Amino acid sequence: MPALMKAWAVDRPGPIDGGPLVRVDKDVPRPGPHQVLVRVRVCGVCRTDLHLAEGDLAPRHRLVTPGHEVVGIVEQLGSGSTRWNEGDRVGVPWLGHTDGLCRFCLSGRENLCLDPRFTGWDVDGGYAPYVVVDEAYAYALPEEFGDEEAAPLLCSGIIGYRALLRADLPDAGRLGIYGYGGSAHITAQVALARGARVHVMTRSLEAQQLALALGASSVGGADAQPPEPLDSAILFAPVGTLVPPALAALDRGGTLAIAGIYLSDIPVLNYAEHLFEERTLRSVTANTRADGEAFLAEAARIGVRVSVTPYPMDEADAALRDLRHDRVNGAAVLVA
Ligand SMILES: [Zn+2]
Ligand SMILES: [Zn+2]
Repeated sequence: MPALMKAWAVDRPGPIDGGPLVRVDKDVPRPGPHQVLVRVRVCGVCRTDLHLAEGDLAPRHRLVTPGHEVVGIVEQLGSGSTRWNEGDRVGVPWLGHTDGLCRFCLSGRENLCLDPRFTGWDVDGGYAPYVVVDEAYAYALPEEFGDEEAAPLLCSGIIGYRALLRADLPDAGRLGIYGYGGSAHITAQVALARGARVHVMTRSLEAQQLALALGASSVGGADAQPPEPLDSAILFAPVGTLVPPALAALDRGGTLAIAGIYLSDIPVLNYAEHLFEERTLRSVTANTRADGEAFLAEAARIGVRVSVTPYPMDEADAALRDLRHDRVNGAAVLVA
């Protein structure tokens, strides 16, 4: 085991083209009690990493290493670690720790924990050769998925799945998806496998084509009116101005779930047009481990196809710039 490693870190948060992400030398972390050390094989690039680098999401400490869609191999067990063996392939997700004691943890809502730790925000993540994870928060990964395909499942997939649950999609319902990147293209497949009709609103013509190829019933521009009223909608684009058109597209009693951790300001809503007739607007905050397990099992069962754009780990900054400028189709992943 080397003592030092080159890791990406957020230096001064700011516009991604200004280079807020730098490479630094860090100690290879040591696994503490009930933790394991994971050698990173692939780390997915999530929009949250971009929000962190650009300062929309304030880094929790200086020079934090982003990355919370890690697929890697257990290299070393901390004291008392029994869940994994050296050599196991595991996934390291966003939800890195909860206290297990607060009123939310005790009521099955650990995603709302009052004292959580998130990978690649509170603790160093996977834009690095090694990462440490609490053994109880790592996932076993279905062998149906190769390393590159598995990585985006760990946040994009799981959070999209929770957003789908929060959107209360009825059986064979009509689902609107606003924004069509890494998370949306996975979520759309789960909805389609459940018999939904899916309408995709996104400005990227390439993304529109990807959506049609995966079975979407219609595609349109970012704020286009779908061809039928929606039972449910999910807003994946971090764009608050899309909230009013997405609410207006709902049928009576419909639900809009906002999937992101960051959203630009929402304009003034008109009660009659956007909320009356029992429309519901909801946010999504992280996920429970049960959400993650359920999603990974369903993704394997229905054969979710993940389209990825691989980048060498050395080019993490380029991957984030491409994500910023809508130049990534599907999900970007960093390959060690
Ligand atoms: Zn808690
Ligand atoms: Zn994420």
